[in-house]
Amino acid sequence: MVDLVEYQGKQYFARYGIPISPGAPADTVAEAEAVAERIGYPVVVKAQVQVGGRGKAGGVKLADNLAEVTEHAGNILGLDIKGHVVRRLWIERATDIAKEYYASFTLDRAARSHLAMVSAKGGVEIETVAEEDPDAIARLHIDPIDGLSEAAARGLVEAAGLDPEAHDGAVDILLKLYDCYIEGDADLVEINPLTLTTDGRVHALDAKVTLDDDAAFRHPDWEEFAGFGEIDERERLAKSKGLQYIGLDGSVGIIANGAGLAMSTLDVVNQVGGSAANFLDIGGGANADVMANALEVINTDPNVRAILVNIFGGIVRCDEVARGILAALERVEISSPIVLRLDGTNEIEAREIIAAANLDQVISQPTMLDAARRAVELAKGAGR
Ligand code: GDP
Ligand code: MN
Repeated sequence: MVDLVEYQGKQYFARYGIPISPGAPADTVAEAEAVAERIGYPVVVKAQVQVGGRGKAGGVKLADNLAEVTEHAGNILGLDIKGHVVRRLWIERATDIAKEYYASFTLDRAARSHLAMVSAKGGVEIETVAEEDPDAIARLHIDPIDGLSEAAARGLVEAAGLDPEAHDGAVDILLKLYDCYIEGDADLVEINPLTLTTDGRVHALDAKVTLDDDAAFRHPDWEEFAGFGEIDERERLAKSKGLQYIGLDGSVGIIANGAGLAMSTLDVVNQVGGSAANFLDIGGGANADVMANALEVINTDPNVRAILVNIFGGIVRCDEVARGILAALERVEISSPIVLRLDGTNEIEAREIIAAANLDQVISQPTMLDAARRAVELAKGAGR
């Protein structure tokens, strides 16, 4: 699942002709200032993180002039919103809002159809509306074969009680939003608020889009979203060091050479009752640099309680890996115990090297299953 941040979602909407405000992203205060000067005041300075409720958290601010942009951009960059640190802003021309509505399409798995929701009560969390005033949300199930007709969209807008002057604009946006939901293999497209401006236009003031990863192969154009998405800090660190890292939420950090071996290691860890904190493939190289980098990346994950290094020696020699690990441990302080399974070329020499180093922290195990068991035990705090 790929969650787009607001401005990616808006750019996605724009491809389908959904009206949005002109704007541009900015990663520094200086860039924010330049964008604001270019698009003209007033502007809105918006935190680009993948969580809702940014407004309430101080991540959305109006600015009437350059000094206010400087102030807000400075405050919002680096702000922690529900655990997401703001690294990018979106600066757009401010809208004069008359009304805030809500519109979305999601997949209703239970009903095996698409679900459209429209409400005249937008700008607040839809869950709150659903709880406090469920009748304020108009719902419509859409058969994927039939699609959404203009008449059905109009019915929805009327049922939701949108102001009459917003009807045409909202119907138009709903039809486009449905196209973008279907063609984009999205799991969710949401506009909250969908606004009626004081001069009678309807447009998208916010965007939430969740794309279905499994459909990525059909959409080479999604590549562009990868560049400016919010990526996990560790993924960023790993990428900068040329490692394949995927963060998970368990407690056993895994380092393996080759994606296949990394995946089977995950499986074995699960099989013995543990859960992986990550998937890290060091590929073909396992020298001290690569090992130090891999350990360092895993070490930044506070959930990791034990590290399992599973290497199958072929072209990569196990003794080289063993030396690499020891050298890495001299360079970076690793807080978790490390369980090693080194199999293949020069494995005996490798085990001797590890044994000779006599480090409490590093434990060799003969098989993948033994190593996984030990790592899971350690992660669960069963001691050494
Ligand atoms: P969220 O809090 O993460 O959902 O962020 P939104 O993008 O929905 O913005 C939160 C709120 O800020 C909106 O509901 C609006 O009330 C307000 N806001 C956002 N953009 C503008 C704008 O251009 N003009 C005005 N007046 N208010 C805005
Ligand atoms: Mn919103």
